[in-house]
Amino acid sequence: MAENLTLIQAGYLAAAVLFIFGLRGLSSPKTAVMGNTLAAVGMLIAIVATLLYQKVVSYPLVLAGIGVGGGLGAVAALRVAMTGMPQMVALLNGLGGAASALVAGAEVLKAAQTGVAPTGIGPAAIVAAVLIGSITLTGSLIAFGKLQEIMNTSAMVYPLQQPSNFVFALGTLAVAVMAALDPTNLTWLYALAGLALLMGVLLTIPIGGADMPVVIALLNSYSGLAACAAGFVLDNSALVISGSLVGASGLILTNIMCVAMNRSLGNVLFGAFGSQDASAAASGADQGTAMAYTPIDAAVIFSNARTCVVVPGYGMAVAQAQHAVRELTEVLEEKGIKCKFAIHPVAGRMPGHMNVLLAEADVPYEQLVEMDDINPEFPETDVALVLGANDVVNPAAREDESSPIYGMPILEVDKSQNVFVIKRSMNPGFAGIQNPLFFKDNTMMIFGDAKKVVIELNDAVKNF
Ligand code: NAP
Repeated sequence: MAENLTLIQAGYLAAAVLFIFGLRGLSSPKTAVMGNTLAAVGMLIAIVATLLYQKVVSYPLVLAGIGVGGGLGAVAALRVAMTGMPQMVALLNGLGGAASALVAGAEVLKAAQTGVAPTGIGPAAIVAAVLIGSITLTGSLIAFGKLQEIMNTSAMVYPLQQPSNFVFALGTLAVAVMAALDPTNLTWLYALAGLALLMGVLLTIPIGGADMPVVIALLNSYSGLAACAAGFVLDNSALVISGSLVGASGLILTNIMCVAMNRSLGNVLFGAFGSQDASAAASGADQGTAMAYTPIDAAVIFSNARTCVVVPGYGMAVAQAQHAVRELTEVLEEKGIKCKFAIHPVAGRMPGHMNVLLAEADVPYEQLVEMDDINPEFPETDVALVLGANDVVNPAAREDESSPIYGMPILEVDKSQNVFVIKRSMNPGFAGIQNPLFFKDNTMMIFGDAKKVVIELNDAVKNF
């Protein structure tokens, strides 16, 4: 058994090193696949090492768990569309939080049965895992419901909401302290779990659907912290390390998203962005008339162009237009038009959404340019091709101090010589606000499904 323990600890160390190198690999599209593989191998090693604890493991039960959980996970992963990925991540976070809470709860049940109370950091770790894990579960379910639009997506606000939530949070913390002081008492455990489950709901309903991706990144961090606490409960160093890595990376991602929207985390969590009142105020005054054009009109402009910057957004993901637009840029390049892709950090519905889709369509990495690097180039750009993007090119963020997105960094396509906007209608984007870009003199609206329009544009450019 002693040799086993050394082997197990060595396995955990190897897994932790692989997790860290895996995360490092994920920081660039070029090394992301390798990073993912390293982290997966690390997880396999951690699982095998854990299964070596023969005395505490029931192999048939573990196999049944792998079969049911792995089967459900594989089917869900194969069936989910790229646009549904945030919802999928929300569910996975919630289940991760629930697992940590259940593991900690099982320790209390064991303690209550044997009468042997956990010692040292044990009680605090149990309480942390139950508290954070339960909040993560219900918070993630609400986030899922809002993103899937099976519940009201707007921020749900009511009088005295924040003070009452504050009092509720204080009450929950008091119960958490009691549960930690009396770790064999099941009543405190059930009370804590119940209050924490309700708290997850109360903290998430005042946040509008438009901010849900940020909330999901934050809940991802919570699920990591809950796993870390469960790691202390089980005295499992691999779980402590992987939980900490998830907790830290989730927080970093949350911060990146807030910075990209020029919002503070406090504003996202408590600002009720997207409440019915705020949406009404944001609909804006009459902006004029947008001019509709055809792909053939656009091809005429392309015949005199030298440079083109494609700005992909959520609509490209919905239409699955990434392959068609890569083909279009190849045809344009053959005609001597230099093409680049401008990547906004929060284009689409999750960080890196556009990078993933364009990589899938084999768009060369060298053509992808980050926002800060491409913005100075727009005044010299002949055509900015806005493909299913809306909020990330909205000049109100720069010009209109009353706009809810004022201050959000945008791709400044309106400074280009010509702007083609491909979308299906005049409907607003995720933030629910109108876009003055559509009414500018240098903007041509080409209405239709992004993939269909790009294919037509491709034919028109070829025949010109
Ligand atoms: P967006 O502002 O949501 O606009 C997407 C546009 O795509 C819509 O106006 C829609 O217009 C169009 N569209 C939908 N389906 C289409 C189709 N089949 N063909 C053509 N067009 C289609 O998207 P975005 O510019 O990418 O901005 C992302 C938004 O998400 C921002 O508000 C950002 O703050 C928010 N967000 C993103 C993240 C992230 O991590 N990426 C995180 C938090 C928040 P029609 O309906 O008229 O076609």
